[in-house]
Parts: sequence; structure tokens; C-alpha cells
Amino acid sequence: MKVLKFGGTSVGTVDSILNVKKIVETIDQPVIVVISALGGITDKLLNTSKIASRGDIAYQDELDEMVARHLTLIKDVVPEVEQSKVIEYVKTMLEELENIFRGLYLIKDLSQKTSDTIVSYGERLSSYIISNVIKGAKLYDSRQFIKTIKQFDKHIVDFETTNRLIKEMFDPLPDVALVPGFISSNMDSGEITNLGRGGSDYTASILAATLDASILEIWTDVDGFMTADPKVISSAYVIDKLSFIEAMELCNFGARVIYPPTIYPVYHKNIPIRIRNTFNPAAPGTFISKEHREGDKKSVIKGISSIDDTCLVTVQGLGMVGVIGVNHRIFRTLAQNGISVFLVSQASSENNTTFAVKNADADLAVKALNEEFALERAQGEISDMQAEKNLATVAIVGENMKRTPGIAGKLFGTLGRAGISVIACAQGASETNISFVIKREYLRKALNSIHDSFFLSEYKVLNIFLAGTGTVGGQLLEQIQHQQPKLMKQNGLKLNVVGIANIDRMIFRREGLDLNHYQQELETNGIETTPIQLCDEILKMNIYNSVFVDCTASDEIAGLYEVFLNKNISVVAANKIAASSSYSNYKLLKETSRKRDIKFLFETNVGAGLPIINTMNSLINSGDHILKLEGVFSGTINFIFNTISEKIPLSKAIRMAADAGYSEPDPRIDLSGKDVIRKLVVLAREAGYKPEQADVVKNLFIPDSYFKGSIENFWEQIHQLDHEFEEKRKQLAFQNKRLRFVARMENGTCEVGLMEVDSHHPFYELEGSNNIILITTERYREFPMIIKGYGAGAEVTAAGVFADIISIANIR
Ligand code: ADP
Ligand code: ASP
Ligand code: MG
Repeated sequence: MKVLKFGGTSVGTVDSILNVKKIVETIDQPVIVVISALGGITDKLLNTSKIASRGDIAYQDELDEMVARHLTLIKDVVPEVEQSKVIEYVKTMLEELENIFRGLYLIKDLSQKTSDTIVSYGERLSSYIISNVIKGAKLYDSRQFIKTIKQFDKHIVDFETTNRLIKEMFDPLPDVALVPGFISSNMDSGEITNLGRGGSDYTASILAATLDASILEIWTDVDGFMTADPKVISSAYVIDKLSFIEAMELCNFGARVIYPPTIYPVYHKNIPIRIRNTFNPAAPGTFISKEHREGDKKSVIKGISSIDDTCLVTVQGLGMVGVIGVNHRIFRTLAQNGISVFLVSQASSENNTTFAVKNADADLAVKALNEEFALERAQGEISDMQAEKNLATVAIVGENMKRTPGIAGKLFGTLGRAGISVIACAQGASETNISFVIKREYLRKALNSIHDSFFLSEYKVLNIFLAGTGTVGGQLLEQIQHQQPKLMKQNGLKLNVVGIANIDRMIFRREGLDLNHYQQELETNGIETTPIQLCDEILKMNIYNSVFVDCTASDEIAGLYEVFLNKNISVVAANKIAASSSYSNYKLLKETSRKRDIKFLFETNVGAGLPIINTMNSLINSGDHILKLEGVFSGTINFIFNTISEKIPLSKAIRMAADAGYSEPDPRIDLSGKDVIRKLVVLAREAGYKPEQADVVKNLFIPDSYFKGSIENFWEQIHQLDHEFEEKRKQLAFQNKRLRFVARMENGTCEVGLMEVDSHHPFYELEGSNNIILITTERYREFPMIIKGYGAGAEVTAAGVFADIISIANIR
């Protein structure tokens, strides 16, 4: 004999009920089918009661909707010949319900008894309807055999009576017995009661245990018990086997797929449970039994679950230390007040005991304990009770954790890297569960990062926020879009662009934006933005494993990095402003990222996509010491010197650099050496020195006066220098020399200026807008290391930014 339970999710629609019919009718042994209310009806009944008891006539609309839903369903699923009988009976029940609501509306008083009566109609209606859908089904009324007694405010099953009545009722056992789940009645008064929300699972378990079923099958809307709630973690996957202990630990902590009390009756009788999907009956589901598989090393933990309704109460005081009986008094007081405690933590100093209760129980717990310890409080031995509300509890569960070192380390390390602080934690000596409490707003982030860290889900996710959709940002998005499938397939990395902002607007999507249409989306759905709003939105999303990518040239955006880093969001900057700002700010950003174990990367600040900073870092990390840096870092200036000829004077060469898009929109930023100075400062700092921009000695080739007026003035006047430059060029050409604008750093002293190089010098043959750097170190002293290549251009810069992003994901 089998017991099958179909939840509200399995009896919500016509199609699902027809699935249930098919599943049950193909079973060739006696079966008890336990049915929940139609999906969503229990919530609706409770909600409608609240509306009516407020004296709000709007309850009538809610009721009408429920009536219509049941009557329409009958027409769709019940064979035509039975329909009028079924409709008549259901209408009678619905009229009763309507009368109760009417009374409630008039009296405006909702007692527990009335609420329990109202909510019972959900299962009474659904079981009656479905008993007329499944061939040969015999309908039972669980109120006649599931008997409860009252303990505090809860209905507790009286097993002695219940077991006896079940045995009587189901002897002989019909082929198909149909039983409403959830509902019961009080043993003494006979009043309608229930087994608590989700209680149909429990009804089914009690029946299975009492009648020695071969298996309890729980049919729902997911393929089985999963590593985490699939509605929160999209990469959660089905666990094929669980032990009773593991299932108990997981569902006790919020895995709604099984109502927690369900486990014990079948566990006690060693009857296995299988979780199955009504919408995918071919899936094997999850098998839950006594057995626990040793050596299943797929993951040491089996699942993660959580409850977001948590309040921590702390009893503390130096007067507690070494005193026997304090904990006894705490828990006795809580029990006397019917308060359930689901996590306890006490430090070995015995200075305080912290426990977790539901938010609704917090005030009563504080009051009762303040009274219990009134004397100790008056004498200063114990402080007033403290309650911290709006927290969440998370548990990781698995019998393989036993005697496996490093699990707690991995767990707390993961949380630390995600910037989540643990407020309290508990692990019992059974080592099957580690629970911890965090702020509620971090719950989703915590679940995601732990899931990613413990379960080798098919892929790792990196969430990207991009500011700036100009040439570099635009190219970057194109490259990401192009590379996404390959990264997913070959490296198991999912790059999710979750936010994009340009100068006016921003868009966000937690699941990832469609990069084909981001421009239109920015225009149509984008919200107006300022840097502060952008920052607020990003922090509000509180998303794990995320990186902020700055492809702007804005100092306000650069000013946001510190906030992001402090919230454990890595930063990749093409923008040079932050790394070349004051040394103290540079150092603060670097240290913040180091402390938080995240990244602040800006490889493209110098030489676009050339691996200059990375190479220097590798040299230094392996014990080398950088003595000297010499380079040509201005693609624009180099282009100008390579272009000047007999026919092309300086002024025209500058114009050509601007037209080709090499220079900044205002070419004076390049010509004044400002850009090169920034780059040199960044490099010198990465080499271990501490220069400020003002410390760099400048030997400029265009007099200061040309930088003072407007840009128009500049274009009008710059030709005045053409002659002088042509003379110089001719003279140098005669000596086989060329001009280069060189940045140098030697032992921390920095300078930029023109240099004449002869044909043996590595800088002589530097084509177009290319960059070059010579790195002299203790190991590369006689022959410096040379890195050379494209030093400007959106495509290579975007590629450099992309490489920084990939290095955050830590894949190769
Ligand atoms: P039913 O109406 O069938 O009783 P429930 O809504 O009570 O269904 O339980 C099924 C739901 O439990 C799933 O849809 C899923 O969202 C949720 N759930 C939470 N945690 C888990 C988990 N670890 N594995 C599977 N489902 C889970
Ligand atoms: N219908 C009840 C509820 O929604 C019982 C159940 O579905 O298990 O809580
Ligand atoms: Mg359920």
C-alpha cells in the first residue's frame, strides 16, 4: 500500500488535476491519496476572513472569486454525468461558507475557532471535487480520525486516539481512498482544527506510518528536494538521496517542500519518502530514507535552507558566569510562555546566552525574561534583555560534514568575502547542521554565495555593473556578448551584466540584461541617473559576486569606488582618475580591496590592453624590485611625432590625431602631458613608490600660454609653432634621430618630456600610436624588459578591461 500526497501546487489547475488523475489511476495497488486545498485557496480563505472581520464588504469579491474558481473547475474536470450532483453539493458547502463570512463581517470578531472552520473548507471542497474525478475513489473525512489536543495556541496530534481511529476507519482498505489533508478535529469537543500550514504532508505521513505503507510519495511542483529553494537560487539542483536526518534538518529550516513534522512518523516506522513532480512524473525525484550514503563526495553538504523570520534575544551579564541554573531558568520561562526557540548559542565564557525566536514572540520573550531575572537585573548582575529583530537564519546541512575539517572555515570565509557579517552561529556535536544568523537584507546574497561555493553548480556567476557606454564601454558590451557562450561552455562562467548606466540613464536587471537591446532599453525603460543614484541602486541590489566597471572619465564616478569596495563589490577602472588621485586615496582603495579580499584593477590606465601593471605586479610578487621605468605612453603624441613631415606640419598632425579619435576630445589634455603624468604616477605607485602628480617634473614642448585660452584660440594659434618644429625635425632627421615624448621614473623620481632618440634606441621604431615601456629591475638590469604594442583604441582598451573582469572571476 502506498500513500500519495498532492499539494496545492498539484491541484491548482485543470491540467494539474488531470495529471493527478492519470498518476493515481495507473497505480496497481491500494493507495491512499491525500489532497490539499486548490493552490492559493488557503491563503485566500485566511485573507478574506481578515477583510470580513474588519467589516470591509470587499470580502464579498474575494469570496465570489473563490466560488467561481471551484465551480468552473468542476465543469472542466468532473465527468459530465456527475457534474450536477457535484455542483449542488459544492454550492451547499459554499453557501455555508458565505454565511460564516457574513457573520464575521457583522460581528467583526475573528476567533481561532472561526478561522480554523473557515480554512477547513479549502481541503473539504478540493477533496470532494477530486474524489469525483479519480475513478473508484472513496472519500473520507479526516476530521473523523485525525484528532488533536490543544497545547498553548497549537493543535497537537493525539497519536493514541488517531492511530486507533485510522486503523478502524481503513479496515478494509479500499483500492483508492481519498483523504483531505491538513484538517482534523479536537479530541474532546469535536471542533474543526488543523495541523498547521503545509499540514497535508503531515496527514499523509500519519496515515502512512499507522497503516504501514511501503512508501510515502509527496507530489509537488518541483523535481525533488533541491540543494536550495529554486525560487531564490536559479542554479539549485535536485538531490537524489537524503537521509531522514538531513531532510529533517533542511525542512526544519524553511525548505517548504516538506512540512517539518512530516518526517518523524515515517522515520519512526522506517518508511521511505519520495518527493516527486506532478508535472514531470518521469523524473526520479528525491528518495529519503534511513540510509545515509557515506563517501558521496559530490558535496560535503546536501542542502541549504533558511528562515527569514528571526529575532535574537540575548541574556547577558557578568553575574551569569559560573552560576548554575541560569539557562534552566531562561528556557523554563520561555516554555511556560509557549515560545519556541530554534537556535541557541552560548560562549564558553558563560557571559551571555543568545537564542533565536520568531519576531512575533520576541516582545513576550523579553518581557517574561525581564520578570524572571528582575532581582539579578536590580543588582546589576544581569543586564536588561536585548532583542534584535528582522534577522534571518541560514543552515547548511549534510551528514558528510561529520569529522570533515574545514567546512565552517569555508562557510564563514565565503560570507566574509561577500561582506556579510555573522551575528550568531550554532553547530551541534552531531555536525550535521551549521546554522547562523545574519541581517535579513543579506539573505539572498548569503544563499547565493554559499550555494556557489559549496555546490559545484554547472556554472559560476559574475555580476557586472557598467558605467559608461561610450566607445570603450560599448565595445566591452559587444565583446562580453560575443564571448558569453564560450565562457559558459568552456569555463563554466556566466557573465551577467546586471546594470548599465550612461551619463543620463540607468537600467538594472538581476537576471541579466539583454545586451542586444541595451541602448533601446536605456532610452525607453532607463531611469534618470546621477552618480549618487547609481550608487544607491547598486547597493540596494545587494548582489553577490559583483564588479563595478568604470568606463567613464568622470571624477564623481571615481569617487564611488570606496563605497563599492567597502560593500565587497570589486572595481575595474578604465578611468584613470582614482589610481592617479592623491596617494592617500590610491592607498585607501588598494588597502580596502586587500582587506576585503576583492579586487581593484586598472590595467588599462596605462598602455590600453598591454599587460604592464600585471607584469610589474608579478615581478614584485616574486621578489624583484623595480628600479626604473621609461616609456612612451601617449599614443596621441607619438602619432603626432610620427606624422610630422615636410608636408604635414605640427598643427595639421594634431588635427589628424584628433580626427582619428586618438586624442582626448580636447587634445590639450594629451599635449600638456597631463595624461602621461597620470599614467606615470599610476605606474610608479604600482612599482612601490609614492609620487603625487605635482611631484612629476615637466619638460613640455608646447609653451604654457597655448593651454590658457579657449580650444578655439588654441586651434587658431597652434600653427605658430609649425615652423620651429619643422626646423627641429629636419635637423634631427639629418642626425638620424627622432623625437619622443618620454615618461621616466627612477628610484621614485618622475619626469616627463621630449627626448631625442637615435636609431639604436628601442623607442626609435615606435609606429603609429603605439606605446612602449622599458622596465629595469634588479633581475632585468642590463637588458630591461620591454613591452610594446597598441597603446590606444577602444577595442584593445575594452579587451584589457574584459581581461581584468575575467581575472576577478578567477578562471584561466
Ligand atoms: P505543495 O503545495 O505541493 O505542498 P509547497 O509550496 O508547499 O508545495 O512546496 C513546494 C515548494 O517548496 C517549491 O515550489 C519550492 O519553491 C519550495 N522549496 C523551498 N525549498 C526547497 C528545496 N530545498 N527544494 C525544493 N523545493 C523547495
Ligand atoms: N492547504 C494547507 C496550506 O496551504 C495545507 C497544505 O497545503 O499542506 O497550508
Ligand atoms: Mg506544502
